[in-house]
Amino acid sequence: MVRSKLIILDRDGVINHDSDAFIKSTDEWIPIPGSLEAIARLNQAGYRVVVATNQSGIARGLFSILTLNAIHQKMHLAAKLVGADIDAVFFCPHAADDNCACRKPKAGMLLDIAKRFDVSLKGVPNVGDSLRDLQAGFLAGCAPYLVLTGKGEATQAKGGLPPGTKVHADLAAVVDLLLKKRAEPAPSV
Ligand SMILES: [Mg+2]
Ligand SMILES: [Zn+2]
Repeated sequence: MVRSKLIILDRDGVINHDSDAFIKSTDEWIPIPGSLEAIARLNQAGYRVVVATNQSGIARGLFSILTLNAIHQKMHLAAKLVGADIDAVFFCPHAADDNCACRKPKAGMLLDIAKRFDVSLKGVPNVGDSLRDLQAGFLAGCAPYLVLTGKGEATQAKGGLPPGTKVHADLAAVVDLLLKKRAEPAPSV
């Protein structure tokens, strides 16, 4: 099937359990129940699924790019096991005070995704558990979805979400809604 739609997901707290101590090893990467199956359902409905994730643990020296690659390999393999396909992972390895263009809440990573996939981000669903995920997506024209997994409940309690933010229990619930909205099959490009 030609995948003509795009969705952008944060990683920690959306696909896998988050930790205040960072996800520093493959063992610490543990999927949230139902998240990979939800990605498979998106794929079947014609979505390309792209991850955009801040990984300042690299700048802090908590883990290396090699370890990050191994974590992502584990994620891709776990996805494959349930028939899910993550098309790409974009990450920002910088610290907040590096002042890069890619670290969320800046929109740089999302604009890179738009360029790579040659699509407009207008209305593209952007799913995150932190305010800065949704701020970055909002700047890029995405439709913001907050999930209550990971840091989501604290994020909702703090408020200040971009206008139009939809709040759902988890990624599986977001996908339920997205797929229910579309009655007809995805158009091919
Ligand atoms: Mg997160
Ligand atoms: Zn960066």
